Amino acid sequence: MASSEVIEVKCPSCKAINRVSRIKVDSGLKPKCGKCKELLPMAKEALVVTDATFEQEVEKSSLPVLLDCWAPWCGPCRMLAPTIEELAEEMDGTIKVAKLNVDDNPKTASKFGIMSIPTLLVFKGGEIVDRMVGVQPKASIKEHLKDL
Ligand SMILES: [Zn+2]
Repeated sequence: MASSEVIEVKCPSCKAINRVSRIKVDSGLKPKCGKCKELLPMAKEALVVTDATFEQEVEKSSLPVLLDCWAPWCGPCRMLAPTIEELAEEMDGTIKVAKLNVDDNPKTASKFGIMSIPTLLVFKGGEIVDRMVGVQPKASIKEHLKDL
């Protein structure tokens, strides 16, 4: 699973290579260089949401949430995945971009009646305000998000 990965980040100030746990970054920690204590620039990735964390990360989120409902066996989902990661980077600070594996998290998937994947759900204040089914171009997803 991506969230258990350790990634190597080069410090922009002293060029030291730092090993950073992705799970700590996902939980909101801002990693610093072990050598010179400068903040490390982290590429923002989509947050992995589960049945257990859905309420906290999505329903109680202070930011609007774009949730990608996907499964590993679904080809179109894999096509959409790079777009979701790019949106996570571009929307950082304005919209929380998250993904939910519907096979591993059937409770949340059935709660929202996910019949086909990929489905993109948009939440604001804990309520669904938008829903997109199927692979979407990034520009079209951003169009859906611009009024949030
Ligand atoms: Zn440094």
